[in-house]
Amino acid sequence: MAKRQLAMVMDLNKCIGCQTCTVACKTQWTNRNGREYMYWNNVETYPGKGYPKDWREAGGGFNAAGDLQPGIIPNLESDYGVPWDYNFDELADGKTLEPHMDPTWGPNWDEDEGAGNFPSDNYFFYLPRICNHCDNAGCLSACPRDAIFKRDQDGVVLVDLDRCQGYRYCIAGCPYKKIYFNPKISKSEKCILCFPRIEKGLPPSCAHQCVGRIRFVGFLDDEESQVHKLVKKHKVALPLNKNYGTGPNIYYIPPTEAPPKFDANGKVIEGSQRVPMEELVSLFGEEVKDVIKRVKAEKEKKATTGESEVMDMLIAYQHQDMFRLDGAYYEQIAAENGKKLAPVDTRYRSGKHTKLQYKAVH
Ligand code: SF4
Ligand code: SF4
Repeated sequence: MAKRQLAMVMDLNKCIGCQTCTVACKTQWTNRNGREYMYWNNVETYPGKGYPKDWREAGGGFNAAGDLQPGIIPNLESDYGVPWDYNFDELADGKTLEPHMDPTWGPNWDEDEGAGNFPSDNYFFYLPRICNHCDNAGCLSACPRDAIFKRDQDGVVLVDLDRCQGYRYCIAGCPYKKIYFNPKISKSEKCILCFPRIEKGLPPSCAHQCVGRIRFVGFLDDEESQVHKLVKKHKVALPLNKNYGTGPNIYYIPPTEAPPKFDANGKVIEGSQRVPMEELVSLFGEEVKDVIKRVKAEKEKKATTGESEVMDMLIAYQHQDMFRLDGAYYEQIAAENGKKLAPVDTRYRSGKHTKLQYKAVH
C-alpha cells in the first residue's frame, strides 16, 4: 500500500461515449513510437467484448487465497486490432474511403451494439477504462524483474523501463489488460495517470478534457476532495471487478438512469429495470444494489428538498471542486529530493498539504 492514494471516480450516468478522453490520452502519450495500438484510456460499450476483445475472460488477478492467476497475452491482430490507415490520397481519383487493410477488431469495434431487443428491452452503457493503479497490482506481482513499482507518494503504478526486459508476464497478470507490450522497444508500457501533469497542478488529460464532466480526481485521504466524499463518505462509487483481487483505485457511480422496459404494446412496464441487475453485480459486486438505492434516494432528496451533497457533486459545477491535486504536496516531495517543481496551473491546488503551505507562506 502506498502512503497516499490518488483516485478517480467516473459517473457512468453521464458518459456520452464521445471518446474525447481517449483522444486526449492518445494524442498526448500513445500515437507514436510503437504505442499506436495502445489505448491507455478506452471507452467501451457494455455489454460488449471490449478492448482488448474479451478482456474479462483473459485471466490474471488473484483468487480468494491470494494466489496470482494465470492469464493470457492478447493477440495484436485478433484481440487489440492492428491500427489501420485510410486511402485519403485516392479520394480525389473518385475512390471511396476504405481502410488500407481488412481489420477484424479494434477499440470500440462493437460500439452501441449492446443487448436486448429494440424498443422493448435493449440496453447498453459506456464504460470508460484506464489502469486502476491497484493496491495489489497483478502486473507488479507477475513481474520477475521487479520492474513495476507503486509510488509511495500517490500510489501511481509505473514501469521502470530500464529494468523491464519485455517478458510480458505483467500483461498476463493484469486482469483488466491495461498494460501493453511496445514491440519497438521491447518493453511494457501503461497509463501513468498523467503524473507529469499532476505534479505540476493539472489533472490527467482524460479527466480534464471529459466533455460529460464525469471524472473526479483527488486523494482518497483528503476528506475535502469529492473523490473521498463519493467513495468513503457517501459510499456511492465502487471499483470495477473488486473480485479480481487487485484493489483497484478507479471508482464508478453505477448506471441508475436507464428507462424502464416496454411491453409488446409499447407501454411502460412499471418497476422494470432495463439494465439487468445481474450484469451490474457482475461488474461491481453485490454492493451495487445498495449503491443504486443510495444514488436514487439522493436524487429524490434533491428533487423534493433542493438539498443533496451527492447530487451537487455529480452535477459537476466546477472543475475546481472536481479536481483536488494538492500541488504543494508534490513540491514538498520534490524539495525533499533536492528538486524544484514549479506548477503551471494553480486552479486545482487545494488539499490538506497545500493549505498548510499557503498558511506558512502568507
Ligand atoms: S489495472 Fe492492471 S496494469 Fe493497472 S495497476 Fe492494476 S494490475 Fe497493473
Ligand atoms: S470524454 Fe467523458 S463523456 Fe466523453 S467518452 Fe470520455 S469519459 Fe465519456
